Amino acid sequence: MSLPFIIDGHTDILLRIDVEKQTNLQSHPDDSIKGGVGMQITAIFTPDEYLENAYDFAINILDNLFLMVKTNHPKYWIYQGNNDIKKIEQEYKQRFKANYEKKIGFLVSLEGAEPLGDDPFKIEEFHKLGIRLVTIAWSRPNAFGCGVGPANNHKGLTSKGKQLIKLMNKLGIIIDVSHLNREGILDTLEISDKPVIATHSNVYSICDNARNLTDDLIRLIAEKGGFLGMCFNQPFLVKTKPARIEDLEKHIRYMLDNFSSDSIAWGSDFDGITGWLLEIENSSERRIITDYLSDNMRLPSDIIDKINYKNWLRILSRCT
Ligand SMILES: [Zn+2]
Repeated sequence: MSLPFIIDGHTDILLRIDVEKQTNLQSHPDDSIKGGVGMQITAIFTPDEYLENAYDFAINILDNLFLMVKTNHPKYWIYQGNNDIKKIEQEYKQRFKANYEKKIGFLVSLEGAEPLGDDPFKIEEFHKLGIRLVTIAWSRPNAFGCGVGPANNHKGLTSKGKQLIKLMNKLGIIIDVSHLNREGILDTLEISDKPVIATHSNVYSICDNARNLTDDLIRLIAEKGGFLGMCFNQPFLVKTKPARIEDLEKHIRYMLDNFSSDSIAWGSDFDGITGWLLEIENSSERRIITDYLSDNMRLPSDIIDKINYKNWLRILSRCT
């Protein structure tokens, strides 16, 4: 098998590098390159203790990211909009040539819209600064909606949340409903003119964790042109530890049998999770999964390509 080409829809390296100063990372961009990742969505998540200064917190992380990218240019680059799809396709073509120095793109996201405070129009500023995806709420309430954590209020999007969806559609920012409660997801799907995705959520019918999505929600997301990013977090895969690649297979198989290959992508959540797939230490070993899709699951290469990156290209072209 040749090296796969992957877009990973959710990683948390920024928090680990900038705030916690960790060096032992699961999705270090250089490891991701080794594992075949061509672009990774890197989230800016605001931990509870920084919520009061969420705006400054996000700006500071963005500054550090730009510095990291500048220092490693042209190996690292930042996705700005659908003109950059060419760059991804180019990378795909060149990657398999001998002696080619592989590159990796970052699509920068806010995981939880707290850096906007309670002003949906602040998204215009963050768009200028490079944010191209927003996860409306993390597992807690904010000014725009509420996540599925212990404080779930079972209310849908607030009026500011609804405004934010419209602004994101207009600006070309991808809408992510992972972490959002059921009521908020239904509101988002109703309001958004563009496809909506869940960057890192699995199938509730296979593993009944609150962060996974029920069939009716998956169907609505798929009908609107979106997808679910299969997440490697053990509690989203299986109830008992450890999670194995066979557990991931069950989610993928269910998606293929009940929905379609257009509605599956990856959202590893590397560097954001404490328990993951037994077979994979970090993003340099991504190939183990794609080999499994072809050798064990016997999926044809066109379906593997969709899951690995082509479904993401569709979202990038329609939403950014
Ligand atoms: Zn998350």
